[in-house]
Amino acid sequence: MKNVGKGTQCVQAGYRPGNGEPRQVPIIQSTTFKYDTSEDMGKLFDLEAEGYFYSRLQNPTNDYVAAKIAELEGGAAGMLTSSGQAANFFALFNICSAGDHIVASSSIYGGTFNLIAVTMARMGITATFVSPDCSPEELDAAFRENTKAVFGETIANPALTVLDIEKFAAAAHAHGVPLIVDNTFPTPVHCRPIEWGADIVTHSTTKYMDGHGSAIGGAIVDSGNFDWMAHADKFPGLTTPDESYHGITYATKFGKGAFITKCTAQLMRDFGCSQSPQSAYLLNIGLESLHVRMQRHVENGLAVARFLEAHEKVAVVHYPGLESDPYYERAKKYMPDGGCGVVSFELTGGREAAESFMKRLKIAAIETHVADARTCCLNPATSTHRQMNDEQLKAAGVPAGLIRISCGLEDAADLIADLTQALA
Ligand SMILES: *Cc1c(COP(=O)(O)O)cnc(C)c1O
Repeated sequence: MKNVGKGTQCVQAGYRPGNGEPRQVPIIQSTTFKYDTSEDMGKLFDLEAEGYFYSRLQNPTNDYVAAKIAELEGGAAGMLTSSGQAANFFALFNICSAGDHIVASSSIYGGTFNLIAVTMARMGITATFVSPDCSPEELDAAFRENTKAVFGETIANPALTVLDIEKFAAAAHAHGVPLIVDNTFPTPVHCRPIEWGADIVTHSTTKYMDGHGSAIGGAIVDSGNFDWMAHADKFPGLTTPDESYHGITYATKFGKGAFITKCTAQLMRDFGCSQSPQSAYLLNIGLESLHVRMQRHVENGLAVARFLEAHEKVAVVHYPGLESDPYYERAKKYMPDGGCGVVSFELTGGREAAESFMKRLKIAAIETHVADARTCCLNPATSTHRQMNDEQLKAAGVPAGLIRISCGLEDAADLIADLTQALA
């Protein structure tokens, strides 16, 4: 759908039914697909024809929904994965092999940090982490001969730092590698990283895109802008023949679809992290209201952040939409309509105050989750980061008293009343 607004894309992009076909995206709950001749099917296995043969690789329901997300991000092609973790792993592993290196922002989701710093290191892929606020010179110094990708998060979970996408894109491109941005928190409704120079965008669709805490999922969108052949020696997987598909070369055969085709044909085939069509259907229902919900999440996030900032028992509030936040100007540039509904703050009473405060909350539930319709909160020190002592927590940028609250779609006045009574 060209020349329509993001709202219209949220509702209608991706699936365009023909005459007499279902209005809602059909759930194609089938592992396999039938063909009249082995010759027909053989063409699919050679990537000579487009079509479906096994849902471990591709499924029509998933492809409708991936097409919607790709359109929303302004990308050339997209695919769904079983989780956000799978999306980030695939996006990186599609172009990195043993002996390669990644430059990543240090301010990223803990699961992604672990994936890159520990698990991918076991595969022989090393990484250098840089502060999202490093100077262009410091960023430049992080690159090596074997660097194959740069990675960051638009708004980091849970630190709520904002990535200077243009700075990271310029550095990546100066070194002949793509920038991959995890755009989970703002969603394409509030930021389209490709417009600022990102090459590949990833999502945990588990969060706002689904928006109801219903289904785990992920997505990868490729802009189609990165010129793999111009850096052919760095990306042999895309620029030299793939013997497992009779010697096709992705970058020359598939053009702007090369990255996603390779990721589907090789990584989905071999790892099978596909999303179930049922989950893709639920995700699509979430996407249909994403533009309306994101606006409300931001309104509630800002109202809660302003309330907390003015409260005497609150020591500090992190929310890029607050004028006092160090990321305010950057957020305004990249996300003029607001970012997301997640706010983090510390109480003057530290860890103990955080515990008793959270126990008293009536509307906001204690959950590991973020970014859905129901307000929830978490004290990382007593949950996700509980193996760390106070010193280690401080070093990780997650002080013991830090509380992350994900403002849902309830009435702001009720959320504030709940916080007021719990703080009293
Ligand atoms: C949750 C999250 C992930 C991981 O996604 P899952 O769907 O839980 O696998 C990755 N990146 C960010 C920014 C997240 O918030």
